[in-house]
Amino acid sequence: MIDLRSDTVTKPSSEMYKAMAAAEVGDDVYGDDPSVNELEETVADLLGHEAGMYVPSGTQSNLSAVLTHCGRGDEYIIGAPYHIARAEAGGTAALGGVVPQHVPVGADGAVDLDAMEDQIKPDDMHFPMTRLLCFENTHNGKAKGPDYMNAATSLAKRHGLAAHLDGARIMNAAIANDCAAKDLTSGFDSVSLCLSKGLGAPAGSVLVSSAPFIKAARRWRKMLGGGMRQSGLYAACGLVAIRSQVDRLAEDHRLAARLVSELAQIPGIETEPEGAHTNMIFIQVAGEHRDALQAHMKERGILIGGRAPTFRLVTHRDISEADVQTTVGAFAEYFRDAG
Ligand SMILES: *Cc1c(COP(=O)(O)O)cnc(C)c1O
Repeated sequence: MIDLRSDTVTKPSSEMYKAMAAAEVGDDVYGDDPSVNELEETVADLLGHEAGMYVPSGTQSNLSAVLTHCGRGDEYIIGAPYHIARAEAGGTAALGGVVPQHVPVGADGAVDLDAMEDQIKPDDMHFPMTRLLCFENTHNGKAKGPDYMNAATSLAKRHGLAAHLDGARIMNAAIANDCAAKDLTSGFDSVSLCLSKGLGAPAGSVLVSSAPFIKAARRWRKMLGGGMRQSGLYAACGLVAIRSQVDRLAEDHRLAARLVSELAQIPGIETEPEGAHTNMIFIQVAGEHRDALQAHMKERGILIGGRAPTFRLVTHRDISEADVQTTVGAFAEYFRDAG
C-alpha cells in the first residue's frame, strides 16, 4: 500500500526495532526508566525547556498542559480549527471544565493576534478568567517562523497570560524555516511534540516546560491513565526518531512539492496556489469524482485521506520517489478516463 492519508502510518524502522531490543527499561511511574528519562531530557533540551514528560499521545500531552495551566471556569483562547479545539473530543471542557474561546485562523494557518487580543477578558465576574493562549505550528502543514512565534509569546506576556504551543509537527516547521526548533519554542510556557508523526516512532509525545510545571503535569498524566511502566521500549524509538529522523523531513517536503507540482498539471485536479505545505498537500476535485476517485486509487493500492470536497495527501518516511510517480500516474489515468 502507498498510504498517503497521514504521516502517522509509518512502521517502526529496523533501527527502532534494534533500539527497542537493546533498551534499558524500568518502571517509569517510579521515574526509574532510563530510556524515558533520557528521551524527556533530550526533547526538553532540543526545544529549549527545563524538563519533559513522555505521554502516550499528543492528545494527552495537550490535555495535561491545558489542565495544568487552567482550572475550572478558566478560559483559553485558541484558533478555531486547531487540534485541541476541534480534534481532541472536547477534553479540556469535558474533563477540566476549562472554557475554550475560538478565534479565526488565516490562510497561513496562523491565529490573527489582534483578534486574539480582542478576546482577552478583563477581570469581571461576568466573564471566565482568561489564563492561556494556545497556538499550533505547523497547522495543516503550514509553518510559521520565529517572528510570528515571538509575536505570539509577546502577546501572552503583555497580558500576564501563559502560552502553550501544540508543536505536534514543530520539527517540520523548523526544517521549513531553516532554523533551530528552539527558535520557535523556547518562548512558550509549554510545548507538545509528537514523535509518531513525521518522526516515525510508533507512539508517544513529549510535553516540555519548567520543572515545577512538569511536576504538576505528571499528576494529570496519572489521572488521565497515562502513567506507563516499562515505556522505555517506546521511548527508545523516540530517541531514534529525534536523533536520526529530523533532517530526513526535508525529503518529505521535497516529495510533497514534487507531488503537488505534478498533480497541478492534471486537468480535473485543483491544487492550492502555494503548492505543498511542508509534508502536506490538499487537492480538490469535482463532487461527482470524490468516491469514484478514492475507490480507483484504492484499487491501485493507494490510500488518500481528508474530507470531501478536499483530499489530503501526506508524505512520510515510507513514501518513496517511485511511490510519488505511481500516485501521479494513477491520478492521471483516472482523469484521462473520466475526461
Ligand atoms: C496528531 C496531532 C495531535 C494529537 O496527537 P495524537 O497522538 O494523535 O493524540 C495534536 N495536535 C496536532 C496538530 C496533531 O497533528
